[in-house]
Amino acid sequence: NLTMALTAKSMPYKQNFGPFAPEVYRMPMSYPFRDGGQDGAAAAREAITRIEKQIGATSVAAILIEPIQGEGGFIVPAPGFLPALADWARANGVVFIADEVQTGFARTGDWFACAHEGVVPDIITMAKGIAGGMPLSAITGRADLMDAVHPGGLGGTYGGNPVACAAALAAIDAIREHDLTARARRIGEIASARLRALAQQVPAIGEVRGRGAMLALEFVRPGGTEPDAALTAAIAARCLEQGVLTLTCGTFGNVIRLLPPLVIGEDLLNDALDVVCTAIGDLSA
Ligand SMILES: *Cc1c(COP(=O)(O)O)cnc(C)c1O
Repeated sequence: NLTMALTAKSMPYKQNFGPFAPEVYRMPMSYPFRDGGQDGAAAAREAITRIEKQIGATSVAAILIEPIQGEGGFIVPAPGFLPALADWARANGVVFIADEVQTGFARTGDWFACAHEGVVPDIITMAKGIAGGMPLSAITGRADLMDAVHPGGLGGTYGGNPVACAAALAAIDAIREHDLTARARRIGEIASARLRALAQQVPAIGEVRGRGAMLALEFVRPGGTEPDAALTAAIAARCLEQGVLTLTCGTFGNVIRLLPPLVIGEDLLNDALDVVCTAIGDLSA
């Protein structure tokens, strides 16, 4: 119930559920494509001012943030946004929680997305890439926070499942052994070069963004920023017909995200990009 209270996306996550826990506030996130290219410091100031005015710093238990929004549209905040927010949290005794469930484990070209800007969260949530597909999630944090809970107070039937933990250890070894953070950066270079070149010719591509192997294309009506969800869905469907799985995301359903496996070969990656680029070219013409 609390995680449903936390998400900002009603459909499909919280529609027809509820009532939800009160006192969860949503603050504006830096979104360079849609906030007029506001710099990170200015965007953070706006969020912080709202926190101070609407809630009051001493009443805030925690800030929970995805360092790059996943479901919300692969939104990469402007540089400086995360550090400014984290600094404010530290100065005000507010726990800074990074949800790295989607960004963690090498996806963005570092072990965790917060590391790109030297941000050290008080708590990190993780899952998805942690165990190479086996069901596992984890929460780590400052000892004084984690140890505040009595033994047995944080857990469940399947917590610490030995098979899933073994899979996680193997996945972590593989990330190290194959230097998958570097691979993620390389995937990002290859894909974003091709997608940015395509964006020069396709006015429906509002923005190509992302970090490492966490990349997205935001589709708009040419000439503006009005979201084009129909085109986005059509492109995703065409890619699927051609054997390439993409996922749509974003508040307006107008973003296609690419999450290639970090071990993908460059030939296969380029094959997939051929399909994506052709689908975009054909359907936006
Ligand atoms: C998928 C996802 C979740 C949900 O994780 P579960 O382990 O399925 O609860 C939470 N946060 C982000 C950013 C995600 O991408």
